[in-house]
Amino acid sequence: MSLTGKVAIVTGSTSGIGLGIARALATEGAAIMLNGFGEAAQIDALRQELASSHGVAVRYSAADMTRPEQIAGMVEDARAQLGGVDILVNNAGIQFTSEIDVFPPERWDAIIAINLSAAFHAMHAAIPLMKQAGWGRIINIASAHGLVASAQKSAYVAAKHGIVGLTKVAGIELANTGVTCNAICPGWVLTPLVQKQIDARAEREGKPVDQVRVDLLSEKQPMLDFTTPEQIGAMAVYLCSGAARTITGTTLSIDGGWTAA
Ligand code: NAD
Repeated sequence: MSLTGKVAIVTGSTSGIGLGIARALATEGAAIMLNGFGEAAQIDALRQELASSHGVAVRYSAADMTRPEQIAGMVEDARAQLGGVDILVNNAGIQFTSEIDVFPPERWDAIIAINLSAAFHAMHAAIPLMKQAGWGRIINIASAHGLVASAQKSAYVAAKHGIVGLTKVAGIELANTGVTCNAICPGWVLTPLVQKQIDARAEREGKPVDQVRVDLLSEKQPMLDFTTPEQIGAMAVYLCSGAARTITGTTLSIDGGWTAA
């Protein structure tokens, strides 16, 4: 196992892509700090299942990614409970779709806080620990929407373009510290975040959910298939490997050709 002895924080890891990444890192032997919302008993069952299947320490932080002081607390808890922070995956994210002139300002603020500012606050707290250790991996989960835009997603596209910019700055600043920072840019991944968009559209258009799933893919991706959380987990493991030592400040697309078209 390549990550034995490393400690990883994965924000938003109670569901979807974050859970896929947490599972992949635990499979490689990393201790995990889970984070995200959900029902307490379910989260505890997940924590125990991950720990016992992979023989690693798994803790949980309930930090709300809209709250900078709670984000700093999550990093401190990882240090105190697990012994450090070697890998930080900024993954927590939300979506809201509407045109700019009717986009609720409070939704804009929430998306910028969770999808962009939270990554800054977590990096701000974790980078000193990584510099001290002389090794670190920061993986920001951006999106194809960090590279190109779609209508009705102003806050999401702005946040994801922002996180790509933040990734570039960190890559430059940390170039000679042993710490790398990269952004993964997925296309469509079938998670609760996307299922909500599919269900809303099926309702709006009066179409079957299966049809809307195909419509959604074919509008954006040449490849008519969803990426899986497991595939994104494997990409995160690769970014943590020695082979990726000189990859920094860049984006890695996993998008079925979305941004090639
Ligand atoms: P998801 O809804 O399945 O999971 C989101 C996670 O974030 C959950 O664990 C949730 O509890 C957590 N979260 C939400 N608000 C939070 C808050 N305030 N504080 C702490 N945790 C919070 O979504 P997903 O599809 O797995 O998305 C994960 C990331 O991947 C997001 O950043 C998203 O933008 C990005 N992404 C998703 C897709 C896709 O097609 N699903 C594509 C590209 C990028």
